[in-house]
Amino acid sequence: MYFDPLYMVFALPGLALAMWAQWKVKSTFAHYAQIPTRRGINGQEAARQLMTAQNLRVGVERIPGAMTDHYDPRAKVIRLSDTSVDNSVASVAVVAHELGHAEQDAQNYGPLKLRGGIVPAVQAASWLGPLMFMGGLFLANRTLAWTGVVCFAMAAVFALVTLPVEFDASRRALRNLESSGLLVGDEIIGAKKVLDAAALTYVAAAAQSILTLLYYVSLMNRSRRE
Ligand SMILES: [Zn+2]
Repeated sequence: MYFDPLYMVFALPGLALAMWAQWKVKSTFAHYAQIPTRRGINGQEAARQLMTAQNLRVGVERIPGAMTDHYDPRAKVIRLSDTSVDNSVASVAVVAHELGHAEQDAQNYGPLKLRGGIVPAVQAASWLGPLMFMGGLFLANRTLAWTGVVCFAMAAVFALVTLPVEFDASRRALRNLESSGLLVGDEIIGAKKVLDAAALTYVAAAAQSILTLLYYVSLMNRSRRE
């Protein structure tokens, strides 16, 4: 492999944004993980109370690791990591966000359904894309190479569809935390900071995905001229 300066032009801004987002989410989470809620509730208790308030029924499971929390629409469970079950503003914010996804699922929220629907195609495209692109360039077969580029585009579409899904889940979380009274006053502001920082990592991932796509398109244009 030769070193391509053009790659750095496309890769560096996305990489810098992703690293900054990671730092931001880690430091914000660490700060609000130290602040217990005034109501004295932990993540699991918050899940129970929020589900009762919204008349929502999903399972609550534990998952190892830090910030591995997610909602699984097939199993209808939220999985909470070790850091999200303590009594802290950060824990309760994360739990409310995951339940926001469960609420989206229960209400057939369009972008969530769309994202779920394209997952198998995106997974196939993610390993077929590089193969077809490299193979296409090697064999000087532009149709094959462009098909690879379309696969990269699918990853970018997935990252973009993820944005409204994540923003909406956080919006629902803050609304439900406020209306249920689980968090009060400046605790709501803290929860918003935690969720905004988490959303930033999805924005960074989308930016990286689009920049990668643009890089491969630029390679295609270059290979036509050579
Ligand atoms: Zn989410």
